[in-house]
Amino acid sequence: MSAPQPCDLIIKNSCVLTMDARRSIIDRGAIAVKGHTIAAVGSEKGILENWSPKDTIDAKGAIVHPGYIDAHLHVNAQTCRGFFRGDASKGGSSGPNYADWKASLTGEDEHAAAGIASIEMLRHGITTYVEPGSAFEPDAVADATRQVGVRCSLAEPYLWDTTEIMDAIPGLASKALFARVPPNRDRCLKLLGSQLFRNRDKNGITHGHVALYGEGTASDELYVTAKKLADREGVILNNHVGFDLDLAAAMERVYGRSRFIHFAEIGVLGANTTFVHMNLINEDEVDPIVKSGMSIVWCPLAYVSRGTTLRKHTRLPEMKQRGVNVALGTDSARQSSAGDAGFLALQLAGGAGFKTVSEDVFEMMTVGGAKAAGLQTLIGSLEPGKRADIVIRSAESAEMMPSIDPAHQLVTVGHGPSADTVLVNGRVVLRSGRATLVDQSRIFDQAQRSVRMIMNRLGLSLPGLWPRGASVSPA
Ligand SMILES: [Zn+2]
Repeated sequence: MSAPQPCDLIIKNSCVLTMDARRSIIDRGAIAVKGHTIAAVGSEKGILENWSPKDTIDAKGAIVHPGYIDAHLHVNAQTCRGFFRGDASKGGSSGPNYADWKASLTGEDEHAAAGIASIEMLRHGITTYVEPGSAFEPDAVADATRQVGVRCSLAEPYLWDTTEIMDAIPGLASKALFARVPPNRDRCLKLLGSQLFRNRDKNGITHGHVALYGEGTASDELYVTAKKLADREGVILNNHVGFDLDLAAAMERVYGRSRFIHFAEIGVLGANTTFVHMNLINEDEVDPIVKSGMSIVWCPLAYVSRGTTLRKHTRLPEMKQRGVNVALGTDSARQSSAGDAGFLALQLAGGAGFKTVSEDVFEMMTVGGAKAAGLQTLIGSLEPGKRADIVIRSAESAEMMPSIDPAHQLVTVGHGPSADTVLVNGRVVLRSGRATLVDQSRIFDQAQRSVRMIMNRLGLSLPGLWPRGASVSPA
């Protein structure tokens, strides 16, 4: 017998949902971690025999799974909860809309929002998010996210060269926003790819990708340039398409045909193309989508918030059944928390008549998300050689009992903040449900302060319908 090999950490006594090619579940499993990486996954007996750790975590029989990937999160919007409820894209009759809020954000605000979002994500078992090119100061977001220890991928903000089409969704159009990030091809060409420097650190947790805003705000020339850059750099081309049905119809009018027929013809669909929303898919678009190998990020909360369910059933469960890579995203967490998307996706798929099961949704949150982020060689499953982004659920959550069907229980009832311990890149970043690398209360204070400052700047009063204050009405 050979001597055990040294490693940094062993997680033992766990039910490991590996998400390897066979989707193996190891009931009495263990994981050996060495540096940033998973060294071995297997039976507890085998791992303990073959590896000699500096440290051991006893998962007490809890479910251990790969960190989820939120493949679409406007992380700087995390502080606007309460102010823009329901369908924020409708805009208000007076006062600032959601786009005005966004346009008013400083780097400090974005830092504060990314800080609380990162802690919230860890508590829900999300270890990576994709910020789709809407943070004005990516350095601020990168800094806050890195401090908490979450992995993210960033892009440059609001790359668009024509925004007339945005008039179709008033809540997302704003003079202040267009003034801050003007639709201008020269600006786009100058900024395109400027976040890719982050990929030079091969062991880092902050990545970069190529993104356009999308939804009909990019010329064909801009799309083609962005796709070529993404191909050359080995990253994804990310953008929004099909958030709104009327906007989708407006795009079809501009192109004179279905959008994905057009995209296929100009050559922007491929295995590294990630389109977000896609709440409308015409019959003639199915083939080009399936054949391209592209990824789709489904944001079920954004879909529901617009009443789209009443106008169009989602076809994304069907796309998954046809072999398209589907991931999940929160979009903006105005009225949901990180981690709600999977639960809602499962219910919506059932409502639309699909036989989607929890395992399908779990794939979307892990391996599907990794591919949609362009990070499939690093994350998405617990396998030797992948980064050690590992979630240990609480062994003491009633909703996880009886723990006999882990993927189903996680998607349907365990989607709350039931992560006990989380590792990102081999480092413990959450323990007993609390962030380990930062002072949480400082980050919460920073977020409270930021919201008050934004309210002052925009002239907003406290949201909510009911009276606030110390006095109570007499009985
Ligand atoms: Zn979005």
